[in-house]
Amino acid sequence: MPATAYDAEKFFRGLVDAGLIIPVGVPGIFGRNHVFEDVLDRFNKLVTDLAKNDGAEYFVYPPAIDRKVLEKVDYMDSFPDLAGTVFSFKGKELTARQLSEAIHNGESWEQYESMTDVVLNPAACYPVYPSFTGTVPREGKLVTMFNWVFRNEPSQEPTRMQSFRVREFVRCGTPDQVVEWRDMWLQRGLHLLESLGLPAHSEVASDPFFGKGGKMLAASQRQQKLKFEVTAPVISEEKPTALCSFNFHQEHFGEAFHIRTEDGEVANTACLGFGLERVVMALFQAHGFDPEKWRSEVHDKLWP
Ligand code: ZN
Repeated sequence: MPATAYDAEKFFRGLVDAGLIIPVGVPGIFGRNHVFEDVLDRFNKLVTDLAKNDGAEYFVYPPAIDRKVLEKVDYMDSFPDLAGTVFSFKGKELTARQLSEAIHNGESWEQYESMTDVVLNPAACYPVYPSFTGTVPREGKLVTMFNWVFRNEPSQEPTRMQSFRVREFVRCGTPDQVVEWRDMWLQRGLHLLESLGLPAHSEVASDPFFGKGGKMLAASQRQQKLKFEVTAPVISEEKPTALCSFNFHQEHFGEAFHIRTEDGEVANTACLGFGLERVVMALFQAHGFDPEKWRSEVHDKLWP
């Protein structure tokens, strides 16, 4: 039995009433309680177990990254509306007093701040590419990360968060190596979610590129099947939520960060990421808000 009707508002209310998430005022930002975090940790561990023989190197990056990474990958051409650029105060005593007065008077204070060298990380894989610069070994590269991601899309819809965690894998090498790995994980991702009682499906998808030109980019991305998503119903049965996303970037990052394969070609990359909060929410919706009452085959998989 689903926890609530497939309805964004009812599901959000249900999560809050069960104490699983704690609103903080801004849409798309909330706290998580220990039950929510326990499910998230245990799902993340299942992903680790699935990949344990793959030889991926594990990294954690902070929520803020070098602004130059965003500039190099043309992020602002495609998603200027989603970026979270970090601003701070660089003035002297007098302007510090004006800033303070403006805040205390309830006035706007943005004119006292200027851009820093960091941005909030918009995609879990971005921070790792600069470390790939150079020639990758014959067998390619494989890394995995657990990173916080930011998207400026405030929404009351609980699965559309401004800040969330992604368990990410990145493969770098020849096109064949990268695509074979992507296809293998597409099956793994589907099976993992199905084994937790989620009606998961994979489908071709596209990114929310900005503006009129963005529509063409999205169409071409679909046509070339560069993006897949594994979805399950959370707030709607007709429009299921993407829990895991697979992106084949071809030479995009290889070119931006001068990454080559042994034969001197520009390296290809692909990544996949589980949206961890979304997986947790899909589990709560499918099985109810109290994990102790989940049916045993699902419960035992997470609490072996
Ligand atoms: Zn990625």
